[in-house]
Amino acid sequence: AMQSPEELGATANAGRPHVMFIPSAGMGHLLPFFRVIAALANRDDVDISVVTVLPTVSAAEADHFAGLFESFPHIRRVDFNLLPFDASEFPGADPFLLRWEALRRSAQLLGPLIAGASPRVSAVVTDITLSSHVIPIAKELDVQCHVLFVSCATMLSLCAYVPVHLDSKAAAGGQVGPGVGDVDIPGVRRIPERCLPPALLDLNKLFTKQFIDNGRLTTQADGFLVNTFDALEPVALAALRDGKVVADFPPVYAIGPFNSHTSASTTAKQQPAAPVCSPAAWLDGQPARSVVYVAFGNRYFVSQEQLQEIAAGLEASGCRFLWVIKTTTVDRDDKAELADVLGKGFLERVRGRGLVTKAWVDQEALLKHPSVGMFLSHSGWNSVTEAAAAGVPLLAWPRNGDHRVNATVVASGGVGVWMEHWSWDGEDELVTREEIGDKVKEVMADEAVRVRAARTGEEAAKAVAESGTSYRSLQEFVGKLKAT
Ligand code: UDP
Ligand code: UDP
Repeated sequence: AMQSPEELGATANAGRPHVMFIPSAGMGHLLPFFRVIAALANRDDVDISVVTVLPTVSAAEADHFAGLFESFPHIRRVDFNLLPFDASEFPGADPFLLRWEALRRSAQLLGPLIAGASPRVSAVVTDITLSSHVIPIAKELDVQCHVLFVSCATMLSLCAYVPVHLDSKAAAGGQVGPGVGDVDIPGVRRIPERCLPPALLDLNKLFTKQFIDNGRLTTQADGFLVNTFDALEPVALAALRDGKVVADFPPVYAIGPFNSHTSASTTAKQQPAAPVCSPAAWLDGQPARSVVYVAFGNRYFVSQEQLQEIAAGLEASGCRFLWVIKTTTVDRDDKAELADVLGKGFLERVRGRGLVTKAWVDQEALLKHPSVGMFLSHSGWNSVTEAAAAGVPLLAWPRNGDHRVNATVVASGGVGVWMEHWSWDGEDELVTREEIGDKVKEVMADEAVRVRAARTGEEAAKAVAESGTSYRSLQEFVGKLKAT
């Protein structure tokens, strides 16, 4: 008998799931998506589509989208046009956060994209920032909806628990606001207000509203993919899985640490010409474990005054260093000259033992270079997992967002050392050049920290190796995709 196109679609789908990824914005969100997509695309039992919004906020995002589709021509690109969005409603808001909001407000257009795809979509994987809008749409269409959570499991427990925490405060007749307050996450840990993402100190902030909405719907998701591994966050993972944080929490697939799977052609494109002073080539010329790698992610820049202290601190430490600098929130706006940013004579004085760059680097690869001895980092979650995978000690200097929550994991998980009292964005006092120089020198010489980080690196490798915890979690996830 003849089959209708729908039936053909269903047959094509049997045992071979079609996963539609719906990522949000910012490299800290896109890179983990691309890494999971690459891991699935390298298997031959899953069809993949990726919802793509162009133009992207930053140039780095555009380059990486292009690299993904070039490396994996069989991945379908599903173009998605946003509805008009008036950003003037949120004066001064960060452009990535505005993009999240624009995506949320266009989410109703995703229904037809999901429903119209062929073969039939069996599951959607979206970002936590969009989840409260995407989950109901997937449910309506009877499609599984998973969330790829781009921060740590501890942060996931916070996101899931904050709405419960606020409701119980209100029910007890306590004062709610102006912010979320200290949060004691059942079975995980108590997070003092000063360690929360700063926006959560104000219940009226756009980020906070999104955070609470997304948190409320976490129990409606079919599963969470998290870039962590059991040995790194055993307590938070157990609490989530045992329903201690909130009852009946969906399955949590701890499948990290993710890695890049970049093809040679994309890597080559990102590291253009001038091999003489490319960071990788420069590292090749340095002694083993002698270099401090310094970087604060792609989203947060450090104030001009604080930059001066970092520069002087690195100089005073006497250590070799590779420093990746961003001076604006969005890379396209970054027109500053390094010589102006760093002050007179700095680059000349450190020539030979310090390399400073404003270019995009392949951080994941650089951290694995044998010359790198430690990582001075804002502890963005991707950076933490890359340090953990490389077994390189991380000196955590949180700057904003989830960084202090992540830093609790840096300390508890043996990734490195957390400077708990160093100030972050928006706080008045600077961390001085003396503090920075002394601490860098101290951690570089700390044998115990180094041994612990190396051990964490071994645990990370075990987790993703065949039959490791992360490997098995990924198998379980694929099994769940096939169970439709
Ligand atoms: N990154 C990179 N090269 C750069 C800047 C950033 O590879 O020049 C990567 C970094 O390795 C990490 C991600 O971008 O994977 C940044 O994410 P993270 O969570 O560390 O910080 P965020 O930028 O979100 O604050
Ligand atoms: N986050 C969350 N729920 C939300 C929105 C964000 O748990 O509804 C988490 C997300 O994982 C992110 C973290 O909060 O990593 C901090 O957000 P931030 O604005 O600092 O973004 P990022 O630095 O990750 O780009």
